[in-house]
Amino acid sequence: MTSDRISQELFTRAGAVVPGGVNSPVRAFRAVGGTPRFIASARGPYLTDADGNEYVDLICSWGPMILGHAHPAVVEAVQRAAALGTSYGAPTRGEVELAEEIVERTSVEQVRLVSSGTEATMSAIRLARGFTGRSKIVKFSGCYHGHSDGLLASAGSGVATFGLPDSPGVTGAATADTIVLGYNDLPAVEEAFAANGDEIACVITEACPANMGIVPPLDDFNLRLKAICAQYGALLIMDEVLTGFRVSRSGWYGIDGVAGDLVTFGKVMGGGLPAAAFGGRADIMAKLAPAGPVYQAGTLSGNPLATAAGLATLRGATDEVYARVGHAAETVAALATAALAKEGVPHRLQTAGNLFSIFFADGEVRDFAAAQRQDVKRYAAFFHAALEHGVHLPPSSYEAWFLSAAHDDAALERVAEALPHAARAAAEA
Ligand code: PMP
Repeated sequence: MTSDRISQELFTRAGAVVPGGVNSPVRAFRAVGGTPRFIASARGPYLTDADGNEYVDLICSWGPMILGHAHPAVVEAVQRAAALGTSYGAPTRGEVELAEEIVERTSVEQVRLVSSGTEATMSAIRLARGFTGRSKIVKFSGCYHGHSDGLLASAGSGVATFGLPDSPGVTGAATADTIVLGYNDLPAVEEAFAANGDEIACVITEACPANMGIVPPLDDFNLRLKAICAQYGALLIMDEVLTGFRVSRSGWYGIDGVAGDLVTFGKVMGGGLPAAAFGGRADIMAKLAPAGPVYQAGTLSGNPLATAAGLATLRGATDEVYARVGHAAETVAALATAALAKEGVPHRLQTAGNLFSIFFADGEVRDFAAAQRQDVKRYAAFFHAALEHGVHLPPSSYEAWFLSAAHDDAALERVAEALPHAARAAAEA
């Protein structure tokens, strides 16, 4: 690496005007220490920072960039849309086409576009409460569903990275109706329903959790959740913000086939612009304004640039793309585990389709408590050595590693060169 002087300067300037110097906490490198790289541009599998250093990108904007950065079809679609005006506050053809594409690929019958995953899950919860006339919701510790008040209890992602038990500013009233259970713990779900079944509006779960590292559902976990919800008249909300259109052309639904009554999407469907969605059974979605009484709205919902980027991305996400992403993910996972094994660093690879993460601990991770047993210090050393050797990993061991179809042999070769250095640093930490 040449230098990180300009990133350091920018981080200092940012710290004066932006809390913690970043606009989303995990970007700050708090868990791994050091200065976040300020990115100037990206192309294919590579990021270039403000100092001119190039990295193989294993974050991919935390999921959206499944085609790689600055994909020509996406860039062209956004440029064409921008030239026609950036926002109208009135409906467009692009919104219809994006909704049709989502309905065609997934289990949902109808879909409403929003601008972030947080909005999608927050709105799905409101709709579930409006539809059932009930107040309580069930979520699982270590699952992250965005930062709305009622869903921040025992959350994954940045909340896990920073070890926050919950967030100041979230009132007791906002979480009083949130029941938090251990992930993969079906007996706990059964008990919660036995005690509160007629008050529970919904269970929300990541279709396959990826925000405490990758912790796949045990064999019939999602199926049993669906059956329990049905038995008690509650709704199952499958959060596919991260997995949707990434782990298969539909999402985790394409792998385990369990349809949520409501499903949330984001990331890939926006192609790197702010677009997300929630959808589900038509009879439930019919309760949403203006068709029904449950209110939900957005000035920039279905924004023409975001829908153009999303459509171009989904249309580009062919079977061949998923095969390439799968191959790249398998290759990187194998390289990382081989390097760590060679250095005798305790680790555990967990995969979910083309997503994977590596826990710096021994033994299977089935829930958040197990995920928290890892050696964060070793990950920090691993992360920085990889960065020094031109590979930008997620700056937290609670996050998945993301590949794209643009991660070709040349990029994978660079990862192969960097990871042994990273593993050595982890061994010495
Ligand atoms: N749900 C899941 C499963 C997520 O992974 C995320 C973001 N990582 C969200 C919801 C929130 O999405 P956003 O950051 O777009 O608000």
